[in-house]
Amino acid sequence: MTTQRLPIYLDYSATTPVDERVLQRMLPFFRENFGNAASRSHSFGWTAEAAVEQAREHVAALIGASQKEMLWTSGSTEANNLAIKGVAGMYREKGNHLITAVTEHKAVLDPMKHLETQGFEVTFLPVDRLGHVDLQQLEAAITERTILVSLMAANNEIGTLHPLAAIGALCKRKGTLFHTDATQAAARIPLDVEAMGIDLLSLSAHKFYGPKGVGALYVRRRNPRVRLVPMFDGGGHERGMRSGTLNVPGIVGMGEAARIAKAEMATEIPRIQALRDRLQQRLLARLPDAVLNGDEAARLPTLLNISFPYVEGESLLMGIKDIAVSSGSACTSASLEPSYVLKSLGLGDELAHSSIRFSLGRFTTEGEIDFATDRVVAEVLRLRAMSPLWEMVQEGIDLTQVKWQSH
Ligand SMILES: *Cc1c(COP(=O)(O)O)cnc(C)c1O
Repeated sequence: MTTQRLPIYLDYSATTPVDERVLQRMLPFFRENFGNAASRSHSFGWTAEAAVEQAREHVAALIGASQKEMLWTSGSTEANNLAIKGVAGMYREKGNHLITAVTEHKAVLDPMKHLETQGFEVTFLPVDRLGHVDLQQLEAAITERTILVSLMAANNEIGTLHPLAAIGALCKRKGTLFHTDATQAAARIPLDVEAMGIDLLSLSAHKFYGPKGVGALYVRRRNPRVRLVPMFDGGGHERGMRSGTLNVPGIVGMGEAARIAKAEMATEIPRIQALRDRLQQRLLARLPDAVLNGDEAARLPTLLNISFPYVEGESLLMGIKDIAVSSGSACTSASLEPSYVLKSLGLGDELAHSSIRFSLGRFTTEGEIDFATDRVVAEVLRLRAMSPLWEMVQEGIDLTQVKWQSH
């Protein structure tokens, strides 16, 4: 028997390690090829610019875009802000209404809330038990004053996939722009901005084996041509939409990460999905009252979100310290708040607190999955044995009928 190397990383939806091939491509751009891509008068600049443009082609190819439609940013948070605030500023004459959903990442929700303070109106659509918005409700929400619909490609906590092509077609028919935060979906599911009718799309390199602090925004150039008010004023880089000296090594890394993802997705993703399915089947077989969160069918192939009733997620995390996962609680300033995504599915605080997100990736092995399964099952059973609630359930007491003493 081989011993498992610890700790085990199962948090690839939070970030991924830089692929060694990506790092090797980046290194010369810190050293001999250190030029500024905006330097037009010498070979240092030309070398940097050529590398940036090659990276732009690779990133564009990952989503079926053309090179001229990609803008470099510092990541998805910036890309989302630029898409949402940039459209709001540019199309204000046409209307002041935007639509999104309650399960979006904070990097979409917070720019939307900011716009509300600036005289815009935002509709935050609810979701069903699986994390889907109702497309009829979306259609009914769109008016002549609607300038943008922003719905994520894949949810970062539960993995639910929005039907992008249907949403894109609806937005086109209604004459409103469609932005998608594809940070989790990119390199995990196929994306095509043409087939899916996407006008703006956000990407982040560190979610697919590239470096942190670099991302991109796709901005449609034809039919329609999308225009944005820039967030920064400066040297007019990136066709005036994003001033600032380009992060050449980071961009080169993102390009290489995109190239590898496109080339290897067809073999890599089924392998990871098989491991995810193995983890899911084994956990649910050994812990039959565990609850799967998200849409089992339309879901990221690399992610598994499960609630373990009668066990507190944070205690579970503490008990499995050598396995890096995320819990359904978010540490706010003072207290542990249950995840707003899980709550919006209709989960009670207890089930939301008891949930764990496992996210797998390129370097996940079967040995790691089997080790993690055993550790999680053992810890859930241990914690349950100490749980008075679990004891009551075992005695046949219906917890919903229990009259609790003052809270
Ligand atoms: C990680 C993530 C972001 C933030 O991306 P950064 O590049 O880290 O700013 C935005 N949206 C989703 C869905 C994410 O998963």
